[in-house]
Amino acid sequence: MKRSEQILRQHKVKVTPQRLAVYGVFNNGKCHLSAEEIFQKVKAQVPAISLGTVYAILENFTSKHLLNEIKIDFSRSLYERTDEDHHHFLCRLCRKVLDVEMPRCPVLDRKSVQGHAIENFQGYFYGVCKDCSSKKR
Ligand SMILES: [Zn+2]
Ligand SMILES: [Zn+2]
Repeated sequence: MKRSEQILRQHKVKVTPQRLAVYGVFNNGKCHLSAEEIFQKVKAQVPAISLGTVYAILENFTSKHLLNEIKIDFSRSLYERTDEDHHHFLCRLCRKVLDVEMPRCPVLDRKSVQGHAIENFQGYFYGVCKDCSSKKR
């Protein structure tokens, strides 16, 4: 818990029990969670929290670069920690969102594209995941 507080402060986010609970949902490793899923998990610890509050916290965390919002699936936004750069793959059959490691794009090292400063880059890939394609055979 101490560590989460520090991380929030480092990102200039005021520490509140609700914000700690939302950030804590991401403690157990790699995950992509929708606002609804985060809300369900946080409610177990902070029963008084509303979905609206969770959305407001997620917006705050995203603007402070604590979380990334992944918009690969137009039907739901997913959130994950900003720890590492990677891209995402959405399977059109099972709707699973997977992390994909890719060699770093050389354009990003130039920090700008056609004169525009790059702050962030996310690649979205769409297709059929290996689990689903092996099931089809
Ligand atoms: Zn699949
Ligand atoms: Zn990811």
